[in-house]
Amino acid sequence: MRVYYHTFGCKANQYDTERMRQELEARGSYKTENVSEAEVIVVNTCTVTNQADAEARRFIRRMHRRHPDARIVVAGCSAALRGEDYTAMDGVADVVEGHDAVHVARVVEHRNGSGLTQIELRGSLDRTDYEPVGGELLRARLGASRGWLKIQDGCDRKCSFCATRLARGASRSRALHEVIEEAKLLGKRHAELVLTGIHIGHYGIDLNPQLSLGQLCASLLEAVPDVRFRVGSIEATEVDALLIELMESSGGTLAPHLHMPLQSGADPVLRLMRRWHTREQYRVRALEIAERISPLGLGADVITGFPGETDDDHAVTRALIEEIPFTYLHVFPFSPRKNTVAETLPRRVPQRVAGERARELRTLAQERGTLYRGSRSGTTATVVVEGGGRMGITEDYLRVRVDGELRDADVFCGAGHTMNGLRPDLLTGTLRGDPDDLYIVPLESPSLSYV
Ligand code: SF4
Repeated sequence: MRVYYHTFGCKANQYDTERMRQELEARGSYKTENVSEAEVIVVNTCTVTNQADAEARRFIRRMHRRHPDARIVVAGCSAALRGEDYTAMDGVADVVEGHDAVHVARVVEHRNGSGLTQIELRGSLDRTDYEPVGGELLRARLGASRGWLKIQDGCDRKCSFCATRLARGASRSRALHEVIEEAKLLGKRHAELVLTGIHIGHYGIDLNPQLSLGQLCASLLEAVPDVRFRVGSIEATEVDALLIELMESSGGTLAPHLHMPLQSGADPVLRLMRRWHTREQYRVRALEIAERISPLGLGADVITGFPGETDDDHAVTRALIEEIPFTYLHVFPFSPRKNTVAETLPRRVPQRVAGERARELRTLAQERGTLYRGSRSGTTATVVVEGGGRMGITEDYLRVRVDGELRDADVFCGAGHTMNGLRPDLLTGTLRGDPDDLYIVPLESPSLSYV
């Protein structure tokens, strides 16, 4: 059976799609990049914003209009919260409420067309013993240089704006040995692995014996030394001393890059958001990290126009962003999610104001990013090669051009990485150019030559 996959949302969702693909391939199906020849279209949805839900619905309508003979199977976060809505859509054959790869594979395989599959996860969102990934370990993220390694799922926090928690359930960590085995498999194909999940700062607290994310990273660096690891989004208050030490001392093998959601820099708003940290706690931790690690890619998510956010609150947030050396920001105007506490909060901020505040912070972030890129010119970096050898990602999360034209056989001949003829690798060199055109001039190495 030919299956076309489309994924909305975060790296955890992308990981889940790869697991679905692998489960289906084990049953004799194969992935097609050409949707016109697909017999089944699997849509893995996201619910992080209202827009994400709307985009999924638009995509499904378009797919059905253009490919009326294909069976559409909908899964993922939005499907977990709005299964009935998707079931009612023309062209949707099945809906799996959640991300379970084995269930998706069964639904696709059995062509049951029974509509809604309420997988066990729906009834057990508060359980902590649910196996986040059933079946086999993931072996590759097809067509990509960097791989995603999911280490946990779900979240135990209760941020008032968040629907992801409702869709993903309680925090569940994967066993250390399983994560290491999967890292070894993925490491054969990918030069970099990004540790992903929904709340990775809570990795290991539900395991027996308990573990921390820092301990997991130390074990991975030891067990899979030829791969660069990168930590996905993590809360500032959960970056522990061991993690900082590893980023400082691993020579880039644990990438010096942290994405630490801020959401707001004003305490009254943080309280309404039901965040557990204060502005000062975030500030102190971020400045401590920036002081110790250099270079450092430092990013954050920020929500503007949260209910109750005043002009003063916004100004305080802006001041905090100016103080911390962020290299990029993801800024979103607030949009209420169904069934969340934030949906019920009074003192709504007009969309226009939330949008203006978002634009202001995005401009600020862009200026800061430009300054940072400029400051990296003339320094050394190691990139994971992407885009057929033309682009690369540095350890501190800058996308740069690779100077010269590298022959595929030369670029991708490293360390036994092979993937359908495409072999991702790491290149070390000097960054040159200006912020608009930053490029790496690789050091010569026996495995590398230029044409
Ligand atoms: S920490 Fe908050 S925002 Fe993040 S997944 Fe958990 S509840 Fe959602």
